[in-house]
Amino acid sequence: MRFLPVFLDLQAGPVFLIGAGDLVRAKLRLLAAAGARVCWHATNGDHDLSGLSSAEVARIEPATGDPLAADLRGVIAILCAGAGDLGPAMSARAKAAGIPVNVMDDLAHSTFIFPAIVDRGDVVVAIGTGGASPVVARRVRELIEAALPARIGDLAGFIGRWRKSIHHRIAEFPLRRRFWERVVDGPIGALVLAGRGSEAEVALKNITDASAYAGAPERGRVGGRVTLVGAGPGDPDLLTVKALRALQDADIIFYDELVSPEILDRARRDAARVAVGRRVGKPGIGQDATNALMIAAARSGQRAVRLKGGDPFVFGRGGEEIEALRQAGVAYSVIPGITAGLGAAAQFEVPLTFRREALRITFLTAHKAEDAAAVDWSLLTDEQMTVVVYMGMTAATSVRAGLLAAGRSPRTPVGVFARVTRPDAQAVVGMLNELPDLVARIDGGPAILIIGDVVAHSAPWRDPNLAQLISCFQDAAE
Ligand code: SAH
Repeated sequence: MRFLPVFLDLQAGPVFLIGAGDLVRAKLRLLAAAGARVCWHATNGDHDLSGLSSAEVARIEPATGDPLAADLRGVIAILCAGAGDLGPAMSARAKAAGIPVNVMDDLAHSTFIFPAIVDRGDVVVAIGTGGASPVVARRVRELIEAALPARIGDLAGFIGRWRKSIHHRIAEFPLRRRFWERVVDGPIGALVLAGRGSEAEVALKNITDASAYAGAPERGRVGGRVTLVGAGPGDPDLLTVKALRALQDADIIFYDELVSPEILDRARRDAARVAVGRRVGKPGIGQDATNALMIAAARSGQRAVRLKGGDPFVFGRGGEEIEALRQAGVAYSVIPGITAGLGAAAQFEVPLTFRREALRITFLTAHKAEDAAAVDWSLLTDEQMTVVVYMGMTAATSVRAGLLAAGRSPRTPVGVFARVTRPDAQAVVGMLNELPDLVARIDGGPAILIIGDVVAHSAPWRDPNLAQLISCFQDAAE
């Protein structure tokens, strides 16, 4: 490591900037936005400040004359961007005066370099590659951007505001550290990260006011909670950033059979994993037992994740689960996921709505023939409605009968999409009157039906070989 990351106090004095062109403008904006006072020598004499905000312009002081002869007293750093031969000359002057200097793209004449930055207010991450590769630094930055909650800076600010008062109340350092760990990892931290800062203030005030306050750090059990997480239809890259964060933060994960092993692989290595829910036709842990397990985990202080295929609130029993959690007084939150219907639509290019052709979408479930019998198909006669059927495989015959009886054309395009977004995804398309035959060609579930004129726009409809091709590509990518 040649360059040590340190953080410069921009209030300490002006930054001396020399150069012209787009590069210098980028630096002007960065410095002014960060609150620096900038003394700027435009090497081409053109102090063009257009495009900068008035607050930024107010921090910039255009300078004229020979920068090599300028008064450098009080200057905290010197920066040359697109300054030509002036760069090395200015570098020599800076070094003689003991002022940190950066000559852009010129390591030999620089005593400091600019890192790539992740800026979340009070939380700033600097990424350097020793000047070797800004592209690598940017890739690392993208990874960190994705991993850091958007409001992590608010959390740091929140703690900053309470720091002094907690310091007075908890004298012992180890206890204090544990207290803050509990705040950061517990419901109060979660409130701040969810943008509910004022509720977090009240919650922290309540615990600091509580008489049992000295023992508060021991009440770690209050940190337990359940996060309902939508895992999406299978491809782990379709997890949301929030879902990934919850998985990496979990102590215990309750997952059901729809969740692919590749998704579980993204969870924290030492998180316990518990399979719950019933497999079709096979016994398993029922809903009440699942609820009881989640509640017990949260009450014992664990960060539990309830991981569900697709979205928790689309035929996922998420509603029942949060009701149970609410009744038990357990803290919970919900992270949405990409539901199977949307995964299928994207993968096989079925536009669920289409100008003039499809103006409405219905998501329905027909688990078994009896369920299908319970559906009021007359509501689905509208030809401008795309119908997405979950759990419709075993009820395909009843779905067809229901829709035909309701007056839908037997020639309505339908698609059966299985194991969508997974490496072995499969699509079979045809017409409504052939639905049971189409379903019979599926090599295994889960599968979703999409019914409506829009299926004629889908990739497998337009090119019957394509469905096959897509699976081949995915096999190759494996
Ligand atoms: N909450 C889930 C749905 C659970 S119901 C979601 O939002 O996707 C289970 C049904 O979802 C399955 O019977 C099937 O119809 C559909 N499904 C789930 N994952 C699927 C996948 N990868 N491919 C196709 N259909 C899927």
